[in-house]
Amino acid sequence: MTAIALKSLRRAFGSFVAVKDIDLTIEDGKFVVLLGPSGCGKTTTLRMIAGLEMPSAGQILLDSADVTYVRPRDRDIAMVFQLFALYPHMTVRENLAFPLENERLKRAEIERRIADTTAMLRIDHLLNSRTGGLSGGDRQRVALGRAIVRQPKAFLMDEPLGTLDAEFRELMCIELRKLHNRLRTTTVFVTHDQDEAMALADHIVVMKDGEIQQSDTPEGIYTFPATMFVANFIGRPPMNFLTVEGAVQAGATDVQVAGQAVKIPTLRGSAARAVIGIRPSQLRVSDTGTLAGKIVAAEFFGSHQIATLTTDAGTVKVETDRNARLTPGQTLRLRLETERIVLFDAESEKLLASDTSLARAFGGYHG
Ligand code: ATP
Repeated sequence: MTAIALKSLRRAFGSFVAVKDIDLTIEDGKFVVLLGPSGCGKTTTLRMIAGLEMPSAGQILLDSADVTYVRPRDRDIAMVFQLFALYPHMTVRENLAFPLENERLKRAEIERRIADTTAMLRIDHLLNSRTGGLSGGDRQRVALGRAIVRQPKAFLMDEPLGTLDAEFRELMCIELRKLHNRLRTTTVFVTHDQDEAMALADHIVVMKDGEIQQSDTPEGIYTFPATMFVANFIGRPPMNFLTVEGAVQAGATDVQVAGQAVKIPTLRGSAARAVIGIRPSQLRVSDTGTLAGKIVAAEFFGSHQIATLTTDAGTVKVETDRNARLTPGQTLRLRLETERIVLFDAESEKLLASDTSLARAFGGYHG
């Protein structure tokens, strides 16, 4: 079991800084996902933890030991790549034995670890098959098996499900999470896919342009996004942003949106310009709603519909009942659930602290 700490970790390529002095603590036994768009520095961060990339500055600690300049193989952590280099002409047993033979483990110990691992991954019937002839999913399991047999202190995974089709991906997400629940080995997993992150993570670290935007539980990221970028990156459809009229002052309990007063959780911050953030599922269609909008499109998703409306505060998406009659051109009135509203400073694009977000920070929020 291992805790990982990154301290002011930086990686520059020439004048381009790919990872900008990030600080992050990964607790022992947690499944942590680095999530963000292409080029945000996820892989570079992971490679630095593995020792495959040298930091330009900063420190990496494994269980409080400084490993910043320790060679990859002396860190005792296993990297699982997207296209894991299995030996196609070797059997599953030989592929799994290979890293253990390199470590000069005793034959009986090797056999015991292979038996445990293949039973856990349900690939014991494939032990004598060559990996070259296996399906993608089975190959992925063997790749995981090769990491597991080593019993490393931590797993580092770089988009390991990237090549699988959607159905397999979902299955492998469940497998991986079950495996983690059993092994409880500290895991750092890189992906750009929010569904994978939500399904797997104890903790999600959202990155953008080499910086950490937010590090929180999946619920925290979804409910109280720290920035407008996170609010827009997480959730399908993403969070709506409604323009607030005029400045907002600390202590305010309502703001003006499209000429109407909207109640908000009491604000602890002020901003010259602000926007309200609210999820499509937290808007209610109601005759007494304060925000009027004209339907421009409606999409049917089986369990619900998503209507797109134009309002005086901007374009808004709202989740409605699957049976709602939604006709383009029709006007709907929307009610905003006060406790679900978040406010952002429109200039810094950061969350303005509210009573609810503070209550949550002190463990008082269970929404
Ligand atoms: P992706 O999912 O596309 O791999 P990522 O978030 O993992 O994205 P990184 O691979 O960490 O991003 O790359 C971060 C930035 O650093 C990118 O702009 C990339 O082009 C740049 N970069 C990475 N490695 C090098 C290198 N060896 N030389 C120059 N630039 C690099």
